[in-house]
Amino acid sequence: MTIVDMPSPNHTSGRKKYRPEAVVIHIMEGTLSGTDSWFRDPHSKVSAHYGIGKNGEIHQYVPEMNTAWHAGRVNAPSWPLIKSAGNGLYINPNYYTIGIEHEGKEDSEWNEEMYLASSGLIKDICTNWSIPLDRLHVIGHHEIYSLKTCPGTKVDINKLIRLAGGNVAVPAVTGSITPAKMAEKGKVTTKTRLNIRPQPNTRFKPIITVDPNVQLAHDGFTNDGEVISGIGKWYYTDEGNWFWSGSVTKVSMLPIPLIEVSPAIGDFTVEQIKEASGAKAASAAKFHPFIVDTCTKYEINTPIRRLCFLAQVGHESGGLFFTEELASGRDYEGRADLGNTHPGDGTLYKGRGLIQITGRFNYEALSKDFGEDFITHPERLGGKNVNVCMPEQLKYAALSAGWFWNKRNLNASADQIDIHKPIDEGDNLTHFKMITKKINGGFNGLADRIQKYINGVAFFR
Ligand SMILES: [Zn+2]
Repeated sequence: MTIVDMPSPNHTSGRKKYRPEAVVIHIMEGTLSGTDSWFRDPHSKVSAHYGIGKNGEIHQYVPEMNTAWHAGRVNAPSWPLIKSAGNGLYINPNYYTIGIEHEGKEDSEWNEEMYLASSGLIKDICTNWSIPLDRLHVIGHHEIYSLKTCPGTKVDINKLIRLAGGNVAVPAVTGSITPAKMAEKGKVTTKTRLNIRPQPNTRFKPIITVDPNVQLAHDGFTNDGEVISGIGKWYYTDEGNWFWSGSVTKVSMLPIPLIEVSPAIGDFTVEQIKEASGAKAASAAKFHPFIVDTCTKYEINTPIRRLCFLAQVGHESGGLFFTEELASGRDYEGRADLGNTHPGDGTLYKGRGLIQITGRFNYEALSKDFGEDFITHPERLGGKNVNVCMPEQLKYAALSAGWFWNKRNLNASADQIDIHKPIDEGDNLTHFKMITKKINGGFNGLADRIQKYINGVAFFR
């Protein structure tokens, strides 16, 4: 198989802690040459690992060990193996999938050349990464993102799998399986990231994903689990959940304290930050690690809390752009209520950070809580705008906003909002206005704050 290299800048190096576990089939809604230029344009911010033309030509844009940007959004996924991150969030599927684009439109027929090239490529990918060749591991893009029809109505994914030599017969998901259990207490260490499931079968969604090199205890095993790479042995835990034996090695030593396994904390995507705050992609990306840290620190850890926080902070900062008030701050001079008792305090302690921390009192309180000196160095909370901020300024711009949010107990207010109902009416509006009032002192910019929430909500439900 000849593969033409066409490197795209639109990718993430590596795959975080993940590895390819499935192939996602796409349709280009265009031509191979059009896709070549679109994926190689840094402004498009999209890519896939491969593109296949109607003549069977294969172009590679991103190496398989890197993360292509082809299926990062999740909406009402029907794919049983989607990785949940808890709280209604998902691990970005780009980290654990390989994307293949195909020339044509959603309703154009696929010819044999394209089927053959695609199935050959799928076969190689699945062999290289030990991905089972079946309908659970070769999927259409819309199974992850239901708002798209991609890869369209014409492609026969079963045919692709059959041509690749795989097994198209996937038994229907049943409510429970009753495997023959054999008691055998013991310990194993995970070799790779490992999913723990309610049944010994990958058709059941993982409950928890465990990192490599973690010790797990088991109470027993079955040989009646799903056969993966020839191995049908699965272990069960004391809670009755299951993991595949092929991903672990036995520990034959004396007992070692078990590492506490906790559910994965939701990955907060750049896209969620961008959409809910109204930020440009570059600003959202710059702030991403600091907003993640902030949300962890202040338990802004549910979809509704994150969405409200980002909509409000997005408004206050002009879309994660300004980290320092534009005005000189002279208007705050002598404001005793802000603690501005020394000459020059007004300009020195003008609004900074993503929620505009203002006045000597607040700067002092923040210094105390963070163990940092923002009195001598107020500029550490943010400098003019995101483009000129040092990483430390981005960090404290985000953290100070979380601090302010936390001081006013705004998580509790956000918790009153029902994310499945409109934000601009009824109780939802009342609570959203209350958050606005606690941040702004009034309702300035309420319409923009609401709009940001509305723009972002689809990315959090
Ligand atoms: Zn697609």
